[in-house]
Amino acid sequence: MKFISTRGRAPSLSFADTVLTGLASDGGLYVPESLPTFSRAEIAAMAGLDYRELAFRIIQPFVGDDLSDEELRDIIERSYETFRHRAIAPLVQTGTNEWILELFHGPTLAFKDFALQFLGQLFDHLLKKRGERVVVMGATSGDTGSAAIEGCRHCDNIDIFILHPHNRVSEVQRRQMTTVMSDNVFNIALEGNFDDCQNMVKASFADQSFLPDGRRLVAVNSINWARIMAQIVYYFYAALRLGAPEKTVNFSVPTGNFGDIFAGYLARQMGLPIDQLVIATNANDILHRCISDNDHSPRPLVHSLSPSMDIMVSSNFERLLFDLYDRNGSAVAELLADRSAPMHLDPSVLSRAREVFSSCRVDDARTVEVIREVFESSEYLLDPHTAIGVEAARRVRKSAEQPMVCLSTAHPAKFPDAVARALPLEKIPLPAHMQDLFERAERMKVLPNDLSQVHEFMATALDT
Ligand SMILES: *Cc1c(COP(=O)(O)O)cnc(C)c1O
Repeated sequence: MKFISTRGRAPSLSFADTVLTGLASDGGLYVPESLPTFSRAEIAAMAGLDYRELAFRIIQPFVGDDLSDEELRDIIERSYETFRHRAIAPLVQTGTNEWILELFHGPTLAFKDFALQFLGQLFDHLLKKRGERVVVMGATSGDTGSAAIEGCRHCDNIDIFILHPHNRVSEVQRRQMTTVMSDNVFNIALEGNFDDCQNMVKASFADQSFLPDGRRLVAVNSINWARIMAQIVYYFYAALRLGAPEKTVNFSVPTGNFGDIFAGYLARQMGLPIDQLVIATNANDILHRCISDNDHSPRPLVHSLSPSMDIMVSSNFERLLFDLYDRNGSAVAELLADRSAPMHLDPSVLSRAREVFSSCRVDDARTVEVIREVFESSEYLLDPHTAIGVEAARRVRKSAEQPMVCLSTAHPAKFPDAVARALPLEKIPLPAHMQDLFERAERMKVLPNDLSQVHEFMATALDT
């Protein structure tokens, strides 16, 4: 299968090249030239499959000849053997026709493990075949960094450098990164904020001359196609458990960069019967304003109790726009020429978006109340991100009869401060494999917000 850019001017690439590239050279994002689809009968035949076999069926058509069936099966097998629940993505009922899809049973307790465990295995396999060694560099405000580190720590052909803002991530989040003692993992605590970290990464991608000969940078952020693709699988998995394709199933998704919910949109385009996809946002509500008022104008960032959804502009929204503008790359390029400028969608485009997407904004105070209410009514403890998804679903769902699946993107123990505001639980217990997290040794390098010092550190680390 070939992949093309949403801005229509970059060369098309194979699956393997797409995965090992970041942005397209025209500034766009890569998407498949055409989407594989499954008939009702084909979907019905997937009903009893376990998670790994289902993943193989969904992902294989995208991969084409770049991996043999055996290679792909092996990559999938390794990716999900680190999950601590046999179902991989279990469903829990919290109300009549209301379900929680638990996506936090991976090594870092957030849904990003689904994509990043897979991406790490995929990278390593492709790089070994090519005899290449690369450097992964990324900035994190919390969840992505630890999931990327867990995904790459066992990869022979990758060195990974993750920058986080010094003293500005939670202790659980920092320790999940800094207690990984693999030789190829480097944590940099930058004396600055998240934007400084991101700017440092952008500048490094733009000029890679600081790297030793033969090395190049590779991105693991949510624009990587393989991450989106891996996330399509659990929409099928949940819907099949709840009676698809005979039954229609809907989803509510705590949304930041629009990667997770875009995977749900793709599942629908591939044939899964989904009527409604709920975009749940916190106070950083650009997508809610866009869907409800056609107001896509960036506003200053607000720090919320759901930090993994604190974004100003959602990068993956571009992939949806490309589809809604009938895959017209130059229309998308024109619309997004200035990402920081207010954008208004064509009215026909907006009404097509609204056929599938609903949206809802939930503030911090309400988030805390929902955590309390759901615990009191169903004895189920939500993390703040998931609570936003549940509240949004309850407010805007169209059908009370069709199952509504709320994606649970993180384990509550990852955000104990927000949960403690809702409930007088002494301490929210960490899952068994993380119980000694606070006793483990840490390793990180604190560096000033200075490009040349960061590059010097990286070059030295890569030399030894
Ligand atoms: C990353 C993240 C999100 C947002 O997902 P997107 O794909 O960026 O929309 C939501 N919740 C948690 C816990 C996350 O880590």
